[in-house]
Amino acid sequence: MIDQLTSLKPLHPTLYQLASDGTSLDFIFSQCPVCGTVNFPANVPGCSHCGDPLTEAPRLTRPGQGELLEFVTIHVPLIPDMQAPTIAGDIRIADGIVEEGVIGVKDESGLRTGMTLKAIAEVREAQGVYACVFVPMNEEVAT
Ligand SMILES: [Zn+2]
Repeated sequence: MIDQLTSLKPLHPTLYQLASDGTSLDFIFSQCPVCGTVNFPANVPGCSHCGDPLTEAPRLTRPGQGELLEFVTIHVPLIPDMQAPTIAGDIRIADGIVEEGVIGVKDESGLRTGMTLKAIAEVREAQGVYACVFVPMNEEVAT
């Protein structure tokens, strides 16, 4: 997995990068230099708390993970290249920051709200990229 990924680029380089284990993703945040609030994505136009433009804000990376708040199975492709069915969820990746993500499990039976998910790289060889997919914390690679 690691060797394969080194030549691949993140599909959304402003949001995440490959973690040192070669499988997990680190999320990229910016920390407001005025009030200290952590913002995501890092390139938001202003701090969500105080409105500072964040032009001087340092980036910080954290392991991509979060709490599953809710999820739903989508049976119709909503965008090109989307597989159906796909399970999508709202995941709290940091205090006050909820992102929608794809959950890489076959069906909902192993999911429950409140569980911790982690972000891993989903290789899309043909496009030369890896994308972000969430899986339950203790599972390895999505199938
Ligand atoms: Zn701020």
